[in-house]
Amino acid sequence: MAVNKPVYLDHHATTPIDPLVLEVLERTQRQFFGNPASNSHSFGWGAQALVKKARQQVAALIGADEREIIFTSGATEANNIALLGAASAAPESKRKIITTTLEHSSVAGPLDHLEKQGWDVVRVGTDATGIINPDDLIAGLTDDTLLISVIAAQNEIGTVQPVEEVARVCHRRGILVHSDAVQAAAHLPLDVGALGVDLLSLSAHKIYGPKGVGALWVRRCHPPLPLDPCFHGGGQESGLRPGTMNVPGIAAFGEACRLALKYRDEEVPRLQGLNKRLLDQLQEQLPGVQLNGAGQPRLPGNLNLRFEGIRAGQLMPRLTVLALSAGSACRSDDPAPSPVLLSLGLSKQEAASSLRIGLGRQTTEEEVDFAAERITAAVQKLRSENK
Ligand code: PMP
Repeated sequence: MAVNKPVYLDHHATTPIDPLVLEVLERTQRQFFGNPASNSHSFGWGAQALVKKARQQVAALIGADEREIIFTSGATEANNIALLGAASAAPESKRKIITTTLEHSSVAGPLDHLEKQGWDVVRVGTDATGIINPDDLIAGLTDDTLLISVIAAQNEIGTVQPVEEVARVCHRRGILVHSDAVQAAAHLPLDVGALGVDLLSLSAHKIYGPKGVGALWVRRCHPPLPLDPCFHGGGQESGLRPGTMNVPGIAAFGEACRLALKYRDEEVPRLQGLNKRLLDQLQEQLPGVQLNGAGQPRLPGNLNLRFEGIRAGQLMPRLTVLALSAGSACRSDDPAPSPVLLSLGLSKQEAASSLRIGLGRQTTEEEVDFAAERITAAVQKLRSENK
């Protein structure tokens, strides 16, 4: 089968919208322009029904109650509401937040902001596995700890974190647990009950849905979980996320969740197989190719590879036929070394020689073989030029 070029291997950055999701998006945009807050006519009711259905679909993906879903403009907003909202509602006696060095900037950023305001923010690091040791997080718990935030699956190295173990201990001590589950949502069985978390963030565009829509799951309990809104306005989404709802985006997000659940069991082993195929070919054909982070548990479509003796910034311009990424901060053709890779103990040079490859639902064996061939040729050529 011929390979369509360029080949998209950057599914951690975003995913292409699924055709069925696009259908829902377009149909809703065309036919359901009503405001779901309009209670007095059928236009409003139609939009309300779609939002309700989507709420059920999102809830079903994570084993939640539909009333616990707060729709947002994406995971950046969900993470900000979770962290800044919990901090704002906290009693004076709770002034500490524990997190990891593996977090996405949409968690790290609000926590940096809280630190500047006087919060004690503790960032727990990891060894070369890229998997946090739960004991290291738990060891930092004190009576003034409000919350722990742990990413479910890391967006650069794909490593899956022991959220459940951390949550179990935190709960016994009355500490809130937040998890950014953006990258995990398409592939890992996410059950908020089993995970034991209180707050969980999701994004539609990482699971073959549209950009600009996401959700914060907030555990329903008595008394309600203390969370202040970050914005003030109408009463939408229990007042936590005021503003007229993005009904087409929300309906499409619901459909993307339905499909994620439907495809997951067959998609995970398929991606694992493709991932292995790619890694095996690269390591057979090239010396000095190392996987960053532990092989398992890892997102099934993630490879973060270090190519000895070259810089990703040199390699990427020669591989424009492949959509790849050099980590989170791909600012130029010579990207700054990723802080996440540095936190695994890699040297600056090792971090700068790393590439992230993210396979996805449309990735084929032919594309993987093509990628292996192109990467091999480019690395060989660069190594000979660098001699
Ligand atoms: N968290 C993680 C782990 C992510 O990968 C991303 C997207 N790069 C986000 C949060 C932010 O999501 P959004 O684009 O929906 O704001």
